[in-house]
Amino acid sequence: MFDALSLARQNIRNLAPYSSARDEFQGSAHVMLDANENAFGSPAVAGMNRYPDPRQRELKTRLAEICGVPNSNIFLGNGSDEAIDLLYRIFCHPGMDRVVICPPTYGMYKVYADINDVEALEVPLTGSFDLDVPRILLTGSATTKLLFICSPNNPTGNAMSRDSVLEIASGFSGVVVVDEAYGDFSDEPSLAGHIERFPNLVVLRTCSKAWGMAGLRIGIALASEPVIELLNRIKPPYNISGVAQEYALRGLRDRKAVEAWIADLKAERALLADRLAKIPSVQSVYPSNANFLLVRFNEADRIYDELVRHGIVVRNRSRLSGCENTLRITVGTPEENRRFLQVLEEIS
Ligand SMILES: *Cc1c(COP(=O)(O)O)cnc(C)c1O
Repeated sequence: MFDALSLARQNIRNLAPYSSARDEFQGSAHVMLDANENAFGSPAVAGMNRYPDPRQRELKTRLAEICGVPNSNIFLGNGSDEAIDLLYRIFCHPGMDRVVICPPTYGMYKVYADINDVEALEVPLTGSFDLDVPRILLTGSATTKLLFICSPNNPTGNAMSRDSVLEIASGFSGVVVVDEAYGDFSDEPSLAGHIERFPNLVVLRTCSKAWGMAGLRIGIALASEPVIELLNRIKPPYNISGVAQEYALRGLRDRKAVEAWIADLKAERALLADRLAKIPSVQSVYPSNANFLLVRFNEADRIYDELVRHGIVVRNRSRLSGCENTLRITVGTPEENRRFLQVLEEIS
């Protein structure tokens, strides 16, 4: 039976977390002399002389409605990257423990492994970019503490089979992190509904992609309470700034606009995929549940250079194993996509 606390490093289990002024007194009083703030005011924005809520209660209440899970199952990070780093620091002994990653995938899982001096065991995706379930389960052991699954996957765009992910969550002894940064663009439902049944499941979401708030740096981890408590225990007290909390609350009220953008984006994605498939230098356009397309070209490097020369920047993924000769193309506005296709047709 999975027990987050007993899987955590001993020093984290023993940690007495810092207790901030705003942890010890919540709410407002007439005279706030407890946090050494500037009582006279702020030269920047009204109210910014005060420390923000370290537990981000208002923001979590709104996100709880959107994600369909209670506040107590939500952790907020300074971007989902912070949640990834904290998970390493909670569960992985440097120089001893290991994690499993499934390339080609998001590069930060490996970067944080290297930063934390943790070995990343690679179980590559299959030829169709699906999870190799038997090999992943064989790689699990007492020292493999985390497994990262990106779904829809960056840079390939496909969503992983739910049954495969849940089979892995049942059979893997460590924490299974499912990164749904692109989940809002996917036809597959979120796995957030399964965090109660799978106490070792962490679902990552973000305000950076569909929600259009990458500049605010708000990442979301949804998990069982013991995992959330560990994340809260080791996070910097005020990890989400007051500005970010205020603006994110404002943005999250406008769900209608975001949903309309997502619908437009999906229509543009289909159009772009169709047009790309007809271009002679294009070998294949991979099916996408994300806001980008992975496209295999005859000569990706040349196409990339020519696009840059015409003022169009895409991501060259050709150096990743399994992604030879590919470019990752973010779906833009209709005008941007039309311009991109026009230039691509000229240079092909
Ligand atoms: C963009 C992206 C994120 C988002 O990171 P933030 O730190 O929340 O901006 C997370 N995971 C993947 C796979 C991404 O592509």
